[in-house]
Amino acid sequence: MLSSANSTLAKPSVPLRSLEIRLHGRGGQGGVTCAKIIAAVYAGLGKSVQTFGDYSGERSGAPVRAYTRVSDSPIENRNKIYLPDHLLVLDPTLLSDEVLAGLAPGGTLLVNTPEPPEKLAGRFEAQRLATVDATAIARRHKIGARSVVIVNTTIAGAFARALDLPLAALEEAYRHLGLLSNFPAAREAYEKVSIRPPLKEGVAAKAPTSLPVLPTVMPLVDHVESPPTALRTGNWRTETPAYVENLAPCSVFCPAGNDVVGFIQALATKGEAAAAEVLGRTTPLAAVCGRVCPAPCMEGCNRAELDGSVNIRGIERWISGKHPIAAREPKACAQPKRLAVVGGGPAGLSAAYTAAKLGHRVTLFEGERALGGVLRTGIPVYRLPRAALDQEVGDVVRLGVEVKSGQFLDRARVAQLPREYEAVVLATGLQKLRGLDGPGQALAGVEQGIHFLHRVNLDGQVKLSGHVVVLGGGNTAMDCARSALRAGASKVTVAYRRGRAEMPAIPEEVVQAEEEGVELVFLVAPLGFSGSGRVESVELAEVELGPPDDSGRRAPRVSDRKRSLRCDGVLLALGQSADLSLLPEGWKLQDGRVLENGRPLPVFAAGDLSTGDGTVTHAIGDGRRAATRALRLFDESVAEFVRPDRAKAVPATDIRFDHFAKSAPAHGRHLPAAARARSFDEVDAGLSEGLEAHRCFSCGHCTSCDTCLVYCPEGIVRRAGAGYDIDYSMCKGCGICVTECPREAMEMRAL
Ligand code: SF4
Ligand code: SF4
Ligand code: SF4
Repeated sequence: MLSSANSTLAKPSVPLRSLEIRLHGRGGQGGVTCAKIIAAVYAGLGKSVQTFGDYSGERSGAPVRAYTRVSDSPIENRNKIYLPDHLLVLDPTLLSDEVLAGLAPGGTLLVNTPEPPEKLAGRFEAQRLATVDATAIARRHKIGARSVVIVNTTIAGAFARALDLPLAALEEAYRHLGLLSNFPAAREAYEKVSIRPPLKEGVAAKAPTSLPVLPTVMPLVDHVESPPTALRTGNWRTETPAYVENLAPCSVFCPAGNDVVGFIQALATKGEAAAAEVLGRTTPLAAVCGRVCPAPCMEGCNRAELDGSVNIRGIERWISGKHPIAAREPKACAQPKRLAVVGGGPAGLSAAYTAAKLGHRVTLFEGERALGGVLRTGIPVYRLPRAALDQEVGDVVRLGVEVKSGQFLDRARVAQLPREYEAVVLATGLQKLRGLDGPGQALAGVEQGIHFLHRVNLDGQVKLSGHVVVLGGGNTAMDCARSALRAGASKVTVAYRRGRAEMPAIPEEVVQAEEEGVELVFLVAPLGFSGSGRVESVELAEVELGPPDDSGRRAPRVSDRKRSLRCDGVLLALGQSADLSLLPEGWKLQDGRVLENGRPLPVFAAGDLSTGDGTVTHAIGDGRRAATRALRLFDESVAEFVRPDRAKAVPATDIRFDHFAKSAPAHGRHLPAAARARSFDEVDAGLSEGLEAHRCFSCGHCTSCDTCLVYCPEGIVRRAGAGYDIDYSMCKGCGICVTECPREAMEMRAL
């Protein structure tokens, strides 16, 4: 198989032991690239190949030769080709005895000419003769300039046809070499080439298994008795190429620590079950993240620089819809520990999952009746249908997690936990809600957005009317605004104190809110509320933006210009913070661990209680981190989850974009805005297929694409099992394989 990523092209059986092909062209016609295309076709069919040019500083128009060797076994012959099985001539004016020398009887001669083969008859009666007007075809397809047509990518199609190579293999090679835009011309040449069999009686087509007889190579030193078959040039080098695995930015940017390139490549090459297994190593909540994660992985995706990030979140959701994610069985554990996890939100579920799948006994405490935390109480069902949430929560519990729900723990109960359990993870989330320091907060109709979402999500049947103003610019504000519309508000306005660019909400959520009719007002800060008994207006001050503050966003500066916004209800979404009052007397949080009067307890904080990062995905990663830290108290072989260093990820500048054909990202299927704005039905039905995985470059991870094998001018890269071997005795250290690797999966190492 041959492609920039792995392809699914079936390999037809092409009988062959050894084949030698020589090309003649002129400088500027691209004969060397043509030889590479032919080599790439054979490499894609599973053959060993070698290809190189025979030129140095030739000027445009000077005769140039290029060679391609193909074999079923590794190629060690490094000579030029003197007795070609087949010959390709890109320019008919080159036809001469010297050019034609050595062509075997029964071999194929393909010439770029408008003449039919019969016109060249006489001299080539013992050969198969093929002609094609590659120049005219290339000109029609506008390949090259009007004055200088470049025929190489066109005539390669005719040559493939003359050698009976399948068109699909040819197309795959063009895809692999980033030449797909020239493929239509190659296909036309494939279809139009005229082929005339040998005319001489008794000349059979050249047997593809015949080996050429090599001319004697003179020994380098006198005492070498027999001609060497290969010159060992390995001692020329100062560096050696090596296969490596580098960090892909998507994986580095994922706060949950998902092996993003791993699950995408598993989907592309092995299918949903394999991809789910990779995801399940790090998260039990892929259906959740595939719907509600802000997807920082997509911000980091190198494909953004070419034609748009890979839709990683969509792929994650696709996999979760096809196959359960969480591990099915806990691992056998010789000495299971008792772990208490307080809080059944994303951080607590992730901590419980991490410990339970390693075979430990986990008790999960949750104040609400059902597990899920903010996923259940805060995120509206039109973004996260409860069936998807229930499935993944259930999968965690089915690993043997004991659930104690329906009662919030107080400080006294929390203080007891380290005496009953060998380790404790506290994952109570952001319980403290920010209010407004201004008049009118107690008026009827002014409500915390989180309380409103809780009522909508758990109680249902919440009815609003009139104009609702939402204060804030984060995801809670968007959830409140869109839920308020669905709950019956006739108009919803979101008032935010900074600009659109500074909004912390997921940009797609903002766009969708606007599509549904939510109005956004920027650069206004709330001062208070007016009304008699019930809120009638929000008092706002106009804001100007100053230099960036600690958050990196431009800081709002409140002016003395004021205005009133009439309304019938207000939802506050001004931010939340961790409620540390749950920590018993003498307990203190330090770097995610609890100290009691300075002494470390086996108690760890997870998620928003610890980091305050505020996204579901951060909570999942931090829950895993807290659980691994807790388990390391008993078993040092458990690796603590640590987010990798972003600076070490493969940058887009190291990806060879010319190896990849452009293709637009696949998007989810959204309900029309008018249909969804008044309904709690799920807005996004997700991707319609998993093909988006094939857009992934596989940054830093080898896909066995054969590019290094095809481009090595020495022909010393060979397939070995799932990977490759380099014959270092022949490697000159030119580094072409490393330069050509499309995805930074090779590097040169100093000797
Ligand atoms: S959890 Fe979020 S950041 Fe991680 S892979 Fe999924 S969508 Fe990307
Ligand atoms: S192209 Fe693939 S491997 Fe590279 S960053 Fe994007 S998703 Fe990750
Ligand atoms: S190391 Fe070779 S086979 Fe692997 S991705 Fe790079 S060029 Fe392709």
